[in-house]
Amino acid sequence: MDTFYLDLPKGAPEPLLLRTHTSPMQIRTMEKQKPPVRVIVPGKVYRRDNPDATHSFIFHQVEGLAVDTDITFCDFAGTIEYFVKQFFGPSVKTRFRPSYFPFTEPSVEFDVSCPFCGGTGTAASGGTCSKCKGAAWIELFGAGMVDPTVYGFVNYDAKRVSGFAFGIGIDRLAMLKYGIDDIQVFFQNDVRFLCQFP
Ligand SMILES: [Zn+2]
Repeated sequence: MDTFYLDLPKGAPEPLLLRTHTSPMQIRTMEKQKPPVRVIVPGKVYRRDNPDATHSFIFHQVEGLAVDTDITFCDFAGTIEYFVKQFFGPSVKTRFRPSYFPFTEPSVEFDVSCPFCGGTGTAASGGTCSKCKGAAWIELFGAGMVDPTVYGFVNYDAKRVSGFAFGIGIDRLAMLKYGIDDIQVFFQNDVRFLCQFP
């Protein structure tokens, strides 16, 4: 439903598909490389979204994948927490919620305490925080441990290797960090906005 196709001229074999996420790079990397694997893949992605303050038909993702013989959920949690505390500051709180994604098991959604209201859900004015809508938490991204079935497709030994994967929308991270309330400004090329981030 989110997929973005481009119509090609008549006679073309099939329509062009713009990628909807960076996750395909996981399997492409594992097809070409034996473990250990540690890869970060930044890329533009496209979705059939109507533009508004939080949706854009183009945005940016960073895909991460780590596969090795001794990777546990704790490695995954530690890596993500380290990044988030470096990015938002040491006082931010984090939590995992169970979720479902086709290629990870277990899968999680990763949340941070709302950086705007300090995780209280209440704005400085005393009203409900408009950023987290009073929830005190903000959903950051989805992630999980690579489903062992995936390893069978790339001739990895699922009994020997394990790993984690995540996909982060970095426009959303920048919006949270810098208090930007409209994603459209990233793509309007207004130098007055852009030159604030040298
Ligand atoms: Zn808040």
